Amino acid sequence: MFSRTLFKLTALYLGIMMAICIIFSVPIYQLSVNELNHSLRLPEPVFDILRNEEDYDSSVRKQVAQEYQQLYQHAKKRILNRLVLVNFIILVGGGFVSYYLAKRTLLPIEEAHESMKRFTADASHELRTPITAMQTENEVALMDSKLTLAAAKDQLKSNMEELSKLTLLTEGLLRLARLEGGDLPKEKISVNLIAEQAIENIVVVASKKDIKFKKALKTKDSVHGDSASLVEAVVILLDNAIKYSPKSSFVNVQTLHERGSALLKVTDKGPGIGKVDQEKIFERFYRGDASRTKSAAGGYGLGLAIAKNIVTAHGGSITVSSRVGKGSTFTIKLPAA
Ligand code: ADP
Repeated sequence: MFSRTLFKLTALYLGIMMAICIIFSVPIYQLSVNELNHSLRLPEPVFDILRNEEDYDSSVRKQVAQEYQQLYQHAKKRILNRLVLVNFIILVGGGFVSYYLAKRTLLPIEEAHESMKRFTADASHELRTPITAMQTENEVALMDSKLTLAAAKDQLKSNMEELSKLTLLTEGLLRLARLEGGDLPKEKISVNLIAEQAIENIVVVASKKDIKFKKALKTKDSVHGDSASLVEAVVILLDNAIKYSPKSSFVNVQTLHERGSALLKVTDKGPGIGKVDQEKIFERFYRGDASRTKSAAGGYGLGLAIAKNIVTAHGGSITVSSRVGKGSTFTIKLPAA
């Protein structure tokens, strides 16, 4: 599909380029011919002699006129040939330039299309898994003629679990789609306030694992952005820190200023993340250790992708530094307002 579009776009660019060249070539040719007429005009005394039949033999007159005519035609032809040659060179060179320009124009569209294709494939794969599980379990239950009320209730409970996973997944997908499409509202907000609000939103979840937050909010920086989205990004980091931290541990939340940027760091004493995983965890649907993550934490690998999208939409970046067995630090860097 893209090769045909590339061909069409190249042809369009080349067409435009050639149309401009031809539009310019016509007046250039006319101007050159005018100039030629002007410079090849016979000097007045020669004209006088030629006009006077008695002074000059008509054959000499004819010959001179013919030679001038030939000279004139020859010069005209040369101008035309040169212009055709220049246009031909532009056609060939322009072909390459047009191809290059068309490729550059299509590249971001092609990348977006590829990513959309991957996204749809990943999303449908993730959606299919709980749906298939529910379908199979329900079919088995329905075929059981001795199905008791207790077993039916168990089945319904299991269905509810799968449904809540599906809800979580579709909410994450919707959030990602919205973030990729729209513009976020911008207001001036303090980085410390973002950290405080995120902690407030997740403190109940943390208390269930007896996890406490240690705050070191050391910057007066503000940032331009959508506070709800930025709080959401920090909540994702805190939620992960809680998920992967041992019970009764501390999660550190730090804010600081560094060369024109506001930094927000979340550090946990969890299992840490290996080097290979560190490069991939911000991708959609990527889960570090599938068995551990799925059973213990039950995530879909969308959290960090959402956080990254939020932060990059604010002109910032999100990074991780981690040592296996020691814990992880996630850093959000935003341009200070
Ligand atoms: P999930 O919903 O699976 O947590 P995320 O996108 O939030 O999805 O995280 C992607 C992966 O990154 C997780 O599956 C996990 O392996 C790893 N990860 C994220 N945060 C931490 C952390 N604080 N400690 C260890 N691993 C983490």
